[in-house]
Amino acid sequence: MKIENDIEDFEALGNDHIGTSANTPMREDAFKLSNDEKIDIIKDDVRHIMETLGLDLTDDSLKGTPMRVAKMFVKEIFGGLNPDKKPNASTFDNKYKYGEMLVEKNITVYSTCEHHLLPIVGKAHVAYISNGTVVGLSKMNRIVDYFARRPQVQERLTIQIVKELQEVLNTEDVACVIDAKHLCVNSRGIRDVDCSTVTSEFGGKFKEKETRREFLDYIKLDTQF
Ligand SMILES: [Zn+2]
Repeated sequence: MKIENDIEDFEALGNDHIGTSANTPMREDAFKLSNDEKIDIIKDDVRHIMETLGLDLTDDSLKGTPMRVAKMFVKEIFGGLNPDKKPNASTFDNKYKYGEMLVEKNITVYSTCEHHLLPIVGKAHVAYISNGTVVGLSKMNRIVDYFARRPQVQERLTIQIVKELQEVLNTEDVACVIDAKHLCVNSRGIRDVDCSTVTSEFGGKFKEKETRREFLDYIKLDTQF
């Protein structure tokens, strides 16, 4: 009975897309197995799921799927679970003394909902105010991509991006807004195709109304080239 209640609780939690921690919940033995060992195990798990569903894996179209999915999980869409993949944090001195806000907007987000293992697709907008240190522009895209390549909830992704940049840039003055579609909402369940989810995290000066307003105004700019 206890276990049944727990399972119901977990299902409710997942359907409401509530995350429980700012850190991705990981097992202590998460990296004891090599990538190749993980792929080998996951391929059998995927085959098992497909066979249980009644699919004939001797069919030419299906026989490569378990290995393909296993490689994709370990090396691509969940590759950001591995701290070794974290983009290295090379920073530069702010030689030109640019003291205003820098906004990197419309960063493409491809992530995966950790409650349904379905895609999250959207845009992230990231900003910081330098206190003497700057990062290469593409570094912000890489940090977004690294944390997106995990089973995620959007709130946690937003917070992880801000925390990482605060650490790299040695300042609290970092903000991130993400606007994304969750295929678990768009394609199943409530099936609302047009709905998207907006999350934000504002650190330091971005908690102030004017600074926040400026950032949000930049995001709204419809940049055409
Ligand atoms: Zn979901």
